Amino acid sequence: MIPTAEQFDLVFIGAGPGGYSGALYAASAGVNVALVEMDALGGTCLNRGCIPAKAFLETAAVHRHVQHAADFGIEASEPRVNFAVTQARKQKIVDGLVGGIAAMCKARKVTVFNGVGRLGADHLVTVTAPDGTTTEITGTNVVLSAGSVPRLIPNFERGGPIMTSDEVLDLDYVPDRVVVVGGGAIGCEFASTFADLGSKVTILEALPKILPGLDADVAGVVVRSFKKKQVDIHTGVMVNGHTPNGAGGTTVHFGDGENVDADAVVISVGRRPYADLLGLDGTGVKVDERGFVVVDEFCRTGEDGVYAIGDLIDTPQLAHVGYAEAILVVKQTLGEEAMPVQYDRVPWAIYCHPEVAWAGPGEEEAKAAGHDVVVAKHPFKFNSRAQILGELDGLAKIIAEKRPDGRPGRILGVHMVGPWVTEQLSGGYLAVNWEATVDEVAEFIQPHPTLTELFGETVMTLTGRNFNG
Ligand SMILES: Cc1cc2nc3c(=O)[nH]c(=O)nc-3n(C[C@H](O)[C@H](O)[C@H](O)COP(=O)(O)OP(=O)(O)OC[C@H]3O[C@@H](n4cnc5c(N)ncnc54)[C@H](O)[C@@H]3O)c2cc1C
Repeated sequence: MIPTAEQFDLVFIGAGPGGYSGALYAASAGVNVALVEMDALGGTCLNRGCIPAKAFLETAAVHRHVQHAADFGIEASEPRVNFAVTQARKQKIVDGLVGGIAAMCKARKVTVFNGVGRLGADHLVTVTAPDGTTTEITGTNVVLSAGSVPRLIPNFERGGPIMTSDEVLDLDYVPDRVVVVGGGAIGCEFASTFADLGSKVTILEALPKILPGLDADVAGVVVRSFKKKQVDIHTGVMVNGHTPNGAGGTTVHFGDGENVDADAVVISVGRRPYADLLGLDGTGVKVDERGFVVVDEFCRTGEDGVYAIGDLIDTPQLAHVGYAEAILVVKQTLGEEAMPVQYDRVPWAIYCHPEVAWAGPGEEEAKAAGHDVVVAKHPFKFNSRAQILGELDGLAKIIAEKRPDGRPGRILGVHMVGPWVTEQLSGGYLAVNWEATVDEVAEFIQPHPTLTELFGETVMTLTGRNFNG
């Protein structure tokens, strides 16, 4: 007798933010779920991304605070970094969160399979365990959530001083000289971390500016703050190769014959979708020329009942976008009404110092999209809480649609840079996604003294009046 494959309502291949959140969300609705993962639960985000990178940034913040303790009347000696402790602390946080997902899966009766999942015809998923044994399962619906891996560039192979985010997050020491190749969000977070910990940091970026997607006023604040930290920023330069120095470091060659010495080179030039092990033979799932699984706005692939979400598809590579796509898919499999994700309005956050957060288009982007806009911006230096914190770099900027009478109407974009703005975005995110007008949001009261008063003050300015000029 041919053994029949175990049948589930829903099978997720890949247990990163897309897969594990979808599995837990579906299970909370009573769905019989299987979750296939070849490595650790939590995926990139928990193990090699968001969480460990922010743990490092928090250590950098503590170092910064102790260095400036005297400004607050606290006399402390010059701080010394023991990064092995930082690494152990980070790993404890990661292990705790990964264990939490495992416990939640158990509690909600999600069946976890440890191994590589391959999708074949008729929703059959073959799981190959680390010992080579295989198990076959099927799902009424299958979700591909295999995520992404770091990209590399020619002439830079991983090993020794050449690192991707994966290796950097395993460091237990602070390199003296760090070269970051790529000035996007991940590159800037590492640049900020190591600069605050005392490394000599150089950023090499091929495009004309770092953080290219950002509103120009916001990006300008980050650049000025990085320069205060002595970060050396080279834009519009190609990185050509490197020559190891025989002592564990290397010399990076860039631009027109320029060189920079490094003890660590962090390649952060983006991430590529990881469909490599998914099989997909005999299925209608299509992969495009850049490796992304092709989906429609409901995350449906070309195969009926097979969906793809998260970094595997060509949507913003953010953990919370993976969560949103997971919910979108689960609702559809439950026969519920589901709204496609509005990708141009998702919240974005970069946790470098100063932090950056936004939702909706920046000024240039809104104008390029054909909007006639009214803009207001306010600096953190006039905010009392920012003064108390001693964190004066930054601003809030609001982009509103200009009404026919010339007054600002609907809020299109909210962009912030400065202290704890990643925690302050929710008001702006709500305004953008609720399609609220300036007059409506101006009615809301912000508590005093808070950093969020800056958002309120900026909205108020758009009404034509304010407290601070
Ligand atoms: C350094 C860094 C910092 C980041 N910071 C942030 C941040 O602050 N905020 C934010 O929103 N995003 C951040 N990101 C991005 C975020 O990590 C990703 O967007 C998110 O992890 C994508 O989730 P995912 O579920 O699509 O894929 P992943 O998290 O990549 O998970 C995919 C999982 O699938 C598994 N897998 C792959 N193929 C198979 C297979 N065939 N069978 C079984 N298992 C398989 C992999 O082992 C992996 O565990 C960061 C990323 C990095 C690298």
